[in-house]
Amino acid sequence: MRSPLSIYPAPGETLTFYFEVNIVANLIQNSTHKLADWLSFNLLKLLLPAVSQRSLKSLQKDTQNPASVQQKVLQTILKRQQETDYGKKYNFANLHSGDEFRKAHPLTTYEDYRSIIENIANTGNFSQLVAEPIILFQETAGTTGQTKLIPRTKSLFDTYQKSFQAVAALTERYAWKNQTNSPSGLGLAFANAQPLKHTPSGIPKGTGTSGGIRQSKLTQNLIKLKFSSPPSLFLISNYTSAYYCHLLFGLLETNLSYISANFASNVLQALQILEEYWSQIVDDIQSGQINPNLDIDDLIRQELQALLQPNPERAQTLKDKFEQGFAGIIPKIWPQLSHIQCITTGAMQIYKERLQFYTGDLPIFSHGYGASESWIGVNLQPERENPAYAIAPHAAFFEFIPLDRGEVDNPSTVDLMSLSVGERYEIVVTTLAGLYRYRLGDIVQCVGYYNRTPIVEFLYRQGSLLNLYNEKVSEQTIFSALTQAIPCLGENAKLIDYTTQMQFSSQPWCYIIYAEVDSPGEISSHLSQCQNQIECSIREVNKSYQKLREANRIDLPKVKLVQRGSFDLLKSQFLKRGSSENQFKMPRLLKNPDMVNLLEDRVVCEV
Ligand code: AMP
Repeated sequence: MRSPLSIYPAPGETLTFYFEVNIVANLIQNSTHKLADWLSFNLLKLLLPAVSQRSLKSLQKDTQNPASVQQKVLQTILKRQQETDYGKKYNFANLHSGDEFRKAHPLTTYEDYRSIIENIANTGNFSQLVAEPIILFQETAGTTGQTKLIPRTKSLFDTYQKSFQAVAALTERYAWKNQTNSPSGLGLAFANAQPLKHTPSGIPKGTGTSGGIRQSKLTQNLIKLKFSSPPSLFLISNYTSAYYCHLLFGLLETNLSYISANFASNVLQALQILEEYWSQIVDDIQSGQINPNLDIDDLIRQELQALLQPNPERAQTLKDKFEQGFAGIIPKIWPQLSHIQCITTGAMQIYKERLQFYTGDLPIFSHGYGASESWIGVNLQPERENPAYAIAPHAAFFEFIPLDRGEVDNPSTVDLMSLSVGERYEIVVTTLAGLYRYRLGDIVQCVGYYNRTPIVEFLYRQGSLLNLYNEKVSEQTIFSALTQAIPCLGENAKLIDYTTQMQFSSQPWCYIIYAEVDSPGEISSHLSQCQNQIECSIREVNKSYQKLREANRIDLPKVKLVQRGSFDLLKSQFLKRGSSENQFKMPRLLKNPDMVNLLEDRVVCEV
């Protein structure tokens, strides 16, 4: 019998801490019979709230003793993978502690795995890297470089489930705390799945969200239990049509409890679709017919159509509200709504204010911090003003590179328990799916501790640093500089989106900032004021930049305003290249010349 702190089931073992989830998951996964389906669904319904609460409790307990959880995670990984080619090469069988592991294995980046992963994708021979089959290659967006294929195994997916369930329990508590009347408990989720592709050896390949929805019956049943949209709706691959239909089903649910999506940009996108298409959606509610112009596969359309009934009364109520305007519309159409759940940190910060135009003062809960490679953290303090995430000790074996050591080839790392409050670190993960001492490229700041586990705020991605002479100006610095500078363009001016580029073509080198701004006043006369404000703000926070400017080694940043809609177009170009709406994050440093040209062609004013 395993100790109660056991995190992962050993092969063949079913009675672990996760016995409820595993039993139900297996039942669901294997059930081919309608009765079994029905039973497993209802069993899940019965057990889910308890499972979520237990996942949260278990995560909280992990935070009391992260050292022991981390040691177990590392031992599990090394033991599981010791017979793989990779495990033999690094002699995993003889490594027993974090220190031994660190000495035996260098830090890595994706490039260290690219050829092994390509080989597995072509041959299917996963045991080069991991002991269990790769169930999905998560294709990352490639917004900051070449696309990557990140392996997902069932064990890795189980670690995500624990974090997801803990978040679900937090959501439930948060919803109850923020509501007076009894809500439906149902959420409106904005997500959709792209069709999965396959590698030459037949391993599924696609975004993490697509894999989750398409491959897991458990996920489909969770959707049925938790969201206003039926599971098949999530399979509409055209995101505008998918979000339209999510809105349609969500608007029929008058007592909606919360709205949820990965990122603030997804919720904003959905609410813009609502603003643009509300009269068609209202017509659909009135007639009970789904708009024929939507891009939906016939089978899915039939399935959704069968669930719709005309509802003229709701249609009229909604029409009256929409006609009054969209400022603060969300709590008006769903008065029981408790909060919006989506990530608002990092690259998403910029969208929060625009989101609040629609949501008014509804709380926004930035719930979690994760990546295709590994889940990282959960926001265990939803009320905290600046969202921060307690690192989830069960999710991976974590190490951290203090920022001042990041330059050397193989910098030393500190363990999860040794972070200092106020310090900045790059995250390194060793996962259950074949990434070892892998530099994630995310920079975080430790802002405190939850029990004995560090809480971090996300700062920026290493790959988005503006870095001409090692001055390292972060996206956070540029965003805050722009936020302070945009009011120079007029009192109604609003920053819609931005990105940057480094200019090396003429001396002195400089940064180029592309910004899309709504309602600027008299731009041409005020743009140089805006430029000076940006310059001042960067100088203030980055002393290296200041010195380089004083020595005239870097020129004033160039500021280029682009036409309205340019960033939508830029995003659509990235989506065409395989990114998905659910995972898309606007790159804050452009490296691809085609994307730079797209913006250059739309510059309306520059200094
Ligand atoms: P992907 O692998 O495409 O899902 O992207 C993962 C990346 O998204 C992370 O490495 C972070 O850079 C970013 N990310 C995920 N969650 C958050 C968060 N809560 N705050 C800021 N950035 C995040």
